[in-house]
Amino acid sequence: MERLASYVSGAWVSGSGKAATLVNPTTEEPIAEASTEGIDFARALSHARDVGGPRLRALSFAQRGELLLALSRVIHANRDALIDVAIQNGGNTRSDAKFDIDGASGTLAYYAELGKQLGDARFLVDGEGEKLGRSPRFFGYHVLVPRAGVAVHINAFNFPAWGLGEKLACALLAGMPVVSKPATSTALLASRIARLFVEANILPEGAFSFIAGAPGDMLDHLGGQDVLAFTGSADTGARLRAMPAVVHGSVRLNIEADSLNTAVLGPDVASGSDTYRMFLREVSRDITQKAGQKCTAIRRILVPSAIEAEIKDELVALLRDVKVGDPALEGVTVGPLATAAQLRDIRAGIQKLSAEASIVLGDGAFQRVGAQDGKGYFVPPTLLHCKDPDAARDVHQHEVFGPCATIVPYDGSSARATDLVRRGGGMLVGSVYSDDRAFVTDMIFGLSPYHGRLYFGSEKIADQTPGPGTVLPQSVHGGPGRAGGGEELGGRRGLAFYSHRAAIQGARPILEAALDLKSS
Ligand code: NAP
Repeated sequence: MERLASYVSGAWVSGSGKAATLVNPTTEEPIAEASTEGIDFARALSHARDVGGPRLRALSFAQRGELLLALSRVIHANRDALIDVAIQNGGNTRSDAKFDIDGASGTLAYYAELGKQLGDARFLVDGEGEKLGRSPRFFGYHVLVPRAGVAVHINAFNFPAWGLGEKLACALLAGMPVVSKPATSTALLASRIARLFVEANILPEGAFSFIAGAPGDMLDHLGGQDVLAFTGSADTGARLRAMPAVVHGSVRLNIEADSLNTAVLGPDVASGSDTYRMFLREVSRDITQKAGQKCTAIRRILVPSAIEAEIKDELVALLRDVKVGDPALEGVTVGPLATAAQLRDIRAGIQKLSAEASIVLGDGAFQRVGAQDGKGYFVPPTLLHCKDPDAARDVHQHEVFGPCATIVPYDGSSARATDLVRRGGGMLVGSVYSDDRAFVTDMIFGLSPYHGRLYFGSEKIADQTPGPGTVLPQSVHGGPGRAGGGEELGGRRGLAFYSHRAAIQGARPILEAALDLKSS
């Protein structure tokens, strides 16, 4: 069986000893294994810092952007082969696989263009300068310079391509070398991409390293110039926060974690209207796409009590004929969950929610198209209905990371909607479907502090958006509270995490010349 290798200190290395097994979640057959035993992580980090860092920092934004464009093209040129790997190891349908892989190449291409716009500079001047003394000559600026360490990226199992690409894009453009570690269970796709990157010989030596398997003692070797960007469960995030390197060494940490995202249907939305159809389409897409294994997927569906029965019927009609099964087959919309552990967690999670909400779809036996009897980690689209959201706790707080969402009624007022949504305790994305400006205003003020992103569906854009579940590089991604308190992407903002802001004080003409600024 193939043993996935890590790329560290400029060479491919296979770990020794006992390995973790990667399986095909449709058939449960083992397809690869990974181990990092014996890898010298301290040396790997030093190599990235000392060899990759200076080489990247010597380049301008435009030159770093050219590297990103070349990486994006490599992914795109190998798209079909990568889609096959995502089907095999991730249980993705073709459409799910494209979502992940095109997300990676698209985000790299977006940051490539940003690099071009930032041009010949190697660091950013942050805001306007200010006079610091009585004389206008004593002046101050702030600069954002690349941090002199290494950026370690740890990703979740659900987006092996996009997770790698989006973090890599920001770090490399900012001028930091990267060590990227995907989740082991679905690492085959990330491993193929890493190999393509290395073989294409695009990046300067030391700018990119790749870990296939457990992180070993790697994080113990992080220091004050390094950063750690993590995506995964809140439990693992909490463990990372408590690491001595973070607590005592000021390692900069970004956490992207769980989220109980909500879609709110406004009281103004009439049955059958464009906004109404958009709402139903986007809710059902979030339940089925990637078998619901999206951190941005809608988990709670808030609908005015007056039409809760109607919405329930509409969603059941949209979801009941969805084909679940072998994701390689045409017509199958929902593939398996990625791992046996996910299957256990999702079944237990649905059980938990069913104590507070009734299951209206997804209970009992279901057909698995093209799957072997008793094999595969399948869960059908599951819809629950919570009659009494005030008595419920898990509906608001327990993320079931699968094809599952709960309808929650509210009285149609913005105050009640805000109160219920906030019970999720901090979220990545909230969506509101309404054409009523007063309702939208109330939602912006009431919900923004609890979200990284708010998405407003309305008639005017009904057929022009990919829905709230798609993370776009122009807007920030992350969320407060339960969602981890992190922030990624957001165009230029995404570079800040990998940069150090320093105040620069001195004689204005000297600073202007050094920073290549023109006096106004
Ligand atoms: P996980 O179990 O926390 O694992 C995430 C990553 O952390 C994996 O690469 C894992 O490596 C690594 N890891 C685990 N323990 C570690 C430790 N002690 N030290 C260092 N690294 C460690 O989460 P998951 O099951 O892969 O992901 C599912 C969760 O991620 C969901 O709750 C979902 O909401 C969240 N998620 C959030 C976002 C977001 O952007 N906010 C995006 C996607 C997913 P191994 O695989 O080798 O154990």
